[in-house]
Amino acid sequence: MSAETIAKPGKVKLPENLVFGKIFSEHVFEMDYDSSKGGWQTPVIKKLENLSIHPAAMVFHYGQALFEGLKAYNLVDGRVAMFRPGKNIERLNSSARRLCMPEVDIEQILKWLTDLVCMDKDWIPDRPGHSLYIRPFMISTEPCFGVRPADQYKLMIMLSPVGPYYPEGFKPVPIMVVDQYVRAVRRGTGEAKAAGNYAASLIGQNQAKHEGFSQVLWLDAIEHKYIEEVGAMNIFVRFKNEIATPSLEGSILPGITRMSVIQILKDWGYTINERQISIDEMVAAYDKGELLEVFGSGTAAVISSVSKLKYNDKLMTFNETEAGELALKLYDELTGIQYGKIEDRHNWLTYVD
Ligand SMILES: *Cc1c(COP(=O)(O)O)cnc(C)c1O
Repeated sequence: MSAETIAKPGKVKLPENLVFGKIFSEHVFEMDYDSSKGGWQTPVIKKLENLSIHPAAMVFHYGQALFEGLKAYNLVDGRVAMFRPGKNIERLNSSARRLCMPEVDIEQILKWLTDLVCMDKDWIPDRPGHSLYIRPFMISTEPCFGVRPADQYKLMIMLSPVGPYYPEGFKPVPIMVVDQYVRAVRRGTGEAKAAGNYAASLIGQNQAKHEGFSQVLWLDAIEHKYIEEVGAMNIFVRFKNEIATPSLEGSILPGITRMSVIQILKDWGYTINERQISIDEMVAAYDKGELLEVFGSGTAAVISSVSKLKYNDKLMTFNETEAGELALKLYDELTGIQYGKIEDRHNWLTYVD
């Protein structure tokens, strides 16, 4: 595309209040896989339309489905960039391995992804805090009731303009431990971005909502003792003398925001420990006044400060009205890099134009 044909981002008329994930851009990427035809077929970028899929497609019966989530931003200099997209495609491949689905060529998908975002960049709202949410996903499409890995798959990428996660500013959120269900177990599918993990977590999410909390803090599924993650976010704890985050033991999704937060904390000279953190340790630290801050990290909200944490009858409160100090600092740093306001010292941005 020549410079003249590239429209400035934000040209598409969008409603003031964008509800997350309800509006989709004009184009989608689609690539089919068929093991009898040598694997991945030639992909297309086409206008968004309904799919026609056989009702026996194995995804509907045995749930081979994975997804990814990342964002593209309008930078302050007028360019458009994605945040660490290569990491999402690497993670797509590791999820695919776990679910016996085919892996993709990372460089090839990155190129197509860049073309797709460039084509629909007018869909990135030109308003503060807005972005284009990118949703790659893969499903098994082979029609068959036999239980085995399918021979046919479909990989698609969709785009959705989204508003700021916190329209009224960076607000702390209340979370609670839900103990009678588990999200994922070590050696299970927890570290894959498998659609089924979400199906398993909805009941806990409902319970938290019912009790007036916005997210679930999941404990490990074996001892019900160690904190794992929050909804679709990884978790960080700031103790008086330490910053810690649960180590990846197989049941936690390895978040790219988590990875970036760890790097930034190291850049700033903090020691950050990846280790098991028990909920009892948190309660004990809280009672001594040594639990200073809890926050989540994930693509959607970037950083989420926690205002309250409920565990059985214990209610711990932190930053009830204002976000925690470190959470806010990290939020400003990460979004600063994402919008091109702060130097991208680790080359995390991939420009689409
Ligand atoms: C996607 C996801 C995260 C966050 O990952 P990011 O790459 O930082 O967006 C955390 N936990 C779960 C369960 C997730 O699905």
